[in-house]
Amino acid sequence: MQFLDDSLHPENQDKVVITVAPYGPEWMPADFPEDIPVTMEEQVQKAVDCYEAGATVLHLHVREPDGSGSKRLSKFNELIAGVREAVPDMIIQVGGSISFAPEGDGEAAKWLSDDTRHMLAELTPKPDQVTVAINTVQMNIMEVMERQCIEGTSLAGPAYYAAYSEMTVPAGPAWVEEHLKRLQAANIQPHFQLTGLHSLETLERLVRRGVYRGPLNLTWVGIGGGFDGPNPINAMEFVRRAPDGACVTLESLMRNVLPINMMAMAMGLHPRCGIEDTIVDQSGRRMTSVAQIRQLVRIAEELGREVANGREAREIYRIGVQYKDAEETLRMNGMAPNRAPGQKNVPLRAA
Ligand SMILES: [Zn+2]
Repeated sequence: MQFLDDSLHPENQDKVVITVAPYGPEWMPADFPEDIPVTMEEQVQKAVDCYEAGATVLHLHVREPDGSGSKRLSKFNELIAGVREAVPDMIIQVGGSISFAPEGDGEAAKWLSDDTRHMLAELTPKPDQVTVAINTVQMNIMEVMERQCIEGTSLAGPAYYAAYSEMTVPAGPAWVEEHLKRLQAANIQPHFQLTGLHSLETLERLVRRGVYRGPLNLTWVGIGGGFDGPNPINAMEFVRRAPDGACVTLESLMRNVLPINMMAMAMGLHPRCGIEDTIVDQSGRRMTSVAQIRQLVRIAEELGREVANGREAREIYRIGVQYKDAEETLRMNGMAPNRAPGQKNVPLRAA
């Protein structure tokens, strides 16, 4: 992305699209009972509360009535229908892992099978987005977690600690290609959750080959443990390498969330918050998803950036838009065109 002399001035930046991830699939309800919704009604209400506080993108996972993470698509359908009815303009973004919670103590934490995740393209009603990871990597969410911030939670128990340390993201080339094909056929927008430059580069190759033909909504996920760590230089390098026309969100973990979000908002990018990312504030005290949204709204105001409403967020994300081929996708995302046969040097973008 290029930054001009006036790029940090709020009037030249998009309105802020706040993503919230308020369902916290890695936690058990007892870890934060005040803010972990369990019944379907509570889960719908949580979306409403987040929307009213200023979040326009809902990163969605679902719980069963017993509080465990649901692996049933019927429960996703139920929650999506409830949220759609209650807050129709909110962008519904389904977490592509479905659920990564272990079945019980001592079980591995893992993403659901390739085939099950493909079924996200068949959800009814249709979500606006499904998150897509690119390239199989370790997802050790414990590596940069501070012990004192998870004390007394389920994650501090040895079995869960081990299960979440060993987790991997299965996102190999054949699966990614097939998944993108199915999501595009269903007109569900992929939201790319990228773990570092290697996955951004793979995504660019997919665009250049015409495998993915749509807007680039990218989240840099700086959580360590196989992903980029929460080092601002990693984030800046990702931003530098992201196409000019991409819409970039920065995401991190626990007490890194607020500083990384502030960098994102200052630079004209977008933040993500909610208890899936952190259950604590900078002093280590519990902080609800709604309180985190309100904090971002306050900071946006100080920066002079307006917060997008649901309809504006849909325009910024270009929800529902697809392109006809690789060349149009490259052009619309501000990327250099593919090399024509015999063309020397870098193919220039048309003015
Ligand atoms: Zn998630």
